[in-house]
Amino acid sequence: MKTEAAILVETGKPLELVELETPALNPGQVLVEIAYSGACGTQVMEWRGDKGEDKWLPHCLGHEGSGTVLETGSAVTKVKPGDKVVLSWIKGDGLEAGGAKYDWNGKTVNSGGVTTFQKHAVVSENRLTLIPAGLPMDVAILLGCAAPTGMGAVFNVLKVRPGDAVAVFGTGGIGLNALMAAAFSGGVPIIGVDPKESRRELAKQFGATDVIDPTAGDVVEQIKAIAPQGVDVAVEATGIPAVMEQAANSTRQQGGRAVVIGNAKYGAKLEISPNVFNAGKSFLGTWGGDSYPDRDYGRFGKLIASGRFPAKDLLSKPYSLAEADQALQDLASGKVGRPLIDMSL
Ligand SMILES: [Zn+2]
Repeated sequence: MKTEAAILVETGKPLELVELETPALNPGQVLVEIAYSGACGTQVMEWRGDKGEDKWLPHCLGHEGSGTVLETGSAVTKVKPGDKVVLSWIKGDGLEAGGAKYDWNGKTVNSGGVTTFQKHAVVSENRLTLIPAGLPMDVAILLGCAAPTGMGAVFNVLKVRPGDAVAVFGTGGIGLNALMAAAFSGGVPIIGVDPKESRRELAKQFGATDVIDPTAGDVVEQIKAIAPQGVDVAVEATGIPAVMEQAANSTRQQGGRAVVIGNAKYGAKLEISPNVFNAGKSFLGTWGGDSYPDRDYGRFGKLIASGRFPAKDLLSKPYSLAEADQALQDLASGKVGRPLIDMSL
């Protein structure tokens, strides 16, 4: 069938809205009618070429969305036509069927196991999870990337306990999910660090008990004014190496832990004092918050749908697919936290 997609033809150039022909389904592949897509820093990095040379051009984009299953390839058992699903870059149960190749007037357009900047997508079974009951289709896009990464960092990696002092560096979409999870875990205090005032305001609505402007003075000192020993755990969600170092330095001696979930630019280097390790602190990484969709998305979805936090406020006002490039520009400039692309517009 024919569908529309906003694809990357050349790095550093605007996305192009094109008509693609979807391929016949291979075993393990699923045709999904996309309802909503999100966008995150990863797409901005691909679009700008911040991930290094892109061998897959031209290609589809996007790795978080929601939609309805239209058709399943052979051997697919996890979903059936009519199912409402979350599309996520994080692999779960089901077959890994590889990326689909679309036809664009005789040219091949590549895609990964999941892409979402399009009205219909051929997706690997293992990137789909049924949408938890009670979660609206638009908010469900958070389960594709921001929630598993941000909440997973807190629940799965740091395993925050009631009374742990928490700092979250960068309160964009992923950082706000980390804040919510810290609040659900009973963290005290929960400190949100962000140079943008609007984001600090959002941080307070999403569980931060205190907020810090890193441009207002030494960040570690500001954190120690709130948590004198340093925080028990820190989440780094900016992708800026200097902030990763601050996250490590802000944790307490003998047992403090910092986890990095921000994506740094290709080729970036991190400078960190080895004293961090000698002081008994841990500096951790994670792949998608160590989340596993089939184990975690139902619970994360319930927390988001609980109404304790205004999850819908995480999303921008909707962009149409034709405005996908604008959505990335607005994300890159910090104008919006989590762009929402509505395929019905
Ligand atoms: Zn993402």
